[in-house]
Amino acid sequence: HYYSNSSLLKKLVSLTSFLPLLVKFQRYLRSNAFDFIKDFYGDISEEYQRFLEAQILIVAQAHSKEINFFTAALSLGYTFNQTHYVPGGFGRLFDQMTANMKCVERNTQIEKIERHSDHFTLYSKNNSIKARKVILNSTVYDSGKLFDDGKTKRYYEKYETLNNHQSSFMLYMTIKSDKKYEHHYQLIQDEQYIHSISNAVFVSFSDVTDSMLTPEGHYSITASIHTDSRFWEDKKTYKVKKEELQSQMLKSICDILDINESEIVHEFTATPRSFKRYINRSQLGGNAITIKNFLPKLPSNDTPIEGLYHVGDTVYAAQGWPGVMLGVENLRGLLDV
Ligand SMILES: Cc1cc2nc3c(=O)[nH]c(=O)nc-3n(C[C@H](O)[C@H](O)[C@H](O)COP(=O)(O)OP(=O)(O)OC[C@H]3O[C@@H](n4cnc5c(N)ncnc54)[C@H](O)[C@@H]3O)c2cc1C
Repeated sequence: HYYSNSSLLKKLVSLTSFLPLLVKFQRYLRSNAFDFIKDFYGDISEEYQRFLEAQILIVAQAHSKEINFFTAALSLGYTFNQTHYVPGGFGRLFDQMTANMKCVERNTQIEKIERHSDHFTLYSKNNSIKARKVILNSTVYDSGKLFDDGKTKRYYEKYETLNNHQSSFMLYMTIKSDKKYEHHYQLIQDEQYIHSISNAVFVSFSDVTDSMLTPEGHYSITASIHTDSRFWEDKKTYKVKKEELQSQMLKSICDILDINESEIVHEFTATPRSFKRYINRSQLGGNAITIKNFLPKLPSNDTPIEGLYHVGDTVYAAQGWPGVMLGVENLRGLLDV
């Protein structure tokens, strides 16, 4: 199957490629995940329900009542699939992927894109580049700002309403400890954390043998929780909110995972505003895979603007590395390369 959005006709034809999937899985597409799970299992404990909700929120970026069971099954399936670890951190993966590329511009923000009849001109602070084809990786919610021409602006404006403002609050730590830790933990509590939209914190530990990330005997810890980017807009309350959520998360993580304060070498946090500053987006997670956001309403990897393409979690096939990679595969097919 494939998905195109370059014209209404091409979209309709591409949607027919999903028919075999729709027929095969229609039973799971018809009802919302919450009802399906209740019908299937009968009453389940609140604790188990909270676990399912936390897993589903991480992958589908929505709650079980908002998604169909097919999406829930894929989301819950993450846990049963192999997870991968990149020694030295994810940055090293990109270093290897780009090692043989001739021209990679780092730390170069594209500030404006001009559309001409047969090419685009991309402007960064000190430079400009001409390109016949452009594959954007910025979000569809923000990309309209890059253009001045009406047609392109209008195309992106249509999708700005998909922005659910969901984002992430991060706590990064290095600890010195001789205890044994798994790579991942999900800590679920009864109450929602302050200034967040969740009661679950996802915690990742570096591998005990990964001396590229931390010196021997140390762990690098990355903990995240869902939040709303709008909670962090008010400059006056920003610092206090940051400290409040940081101390709540720190307390849970240390209590549950048995980390003593004396073992913490350093710690710092990041908010949706930090993401905006460093990767030019405050929404994280891309398009939620809800029943409301059904496929024909979502953007694809091609556009009605000739030569303009898109990859990432705000276009087909949505969030996470598997979603982004499926989108790249879809684009490869559309470009016939
Ligand atoms: C806390 C957290 C944990 C996650 N864990 C997992 C996980 O375990 N597994 C998983 O599969 N997914 C995970 N995800 C999701 C995954 O990180 C995202 O879905 C994925 O990174 C989205 O890729 P992207 O290319 O759409 O966007 P991004 O990763 O945001 O990349 C976009 C890039 O474009 C650049 N950019 C933006 N605007 C411009 C501009 N104007 N000029 C130049 N460059 C620009 C940015 O700097 C950035 O490098 C997680 C997400 C979060 C927030």
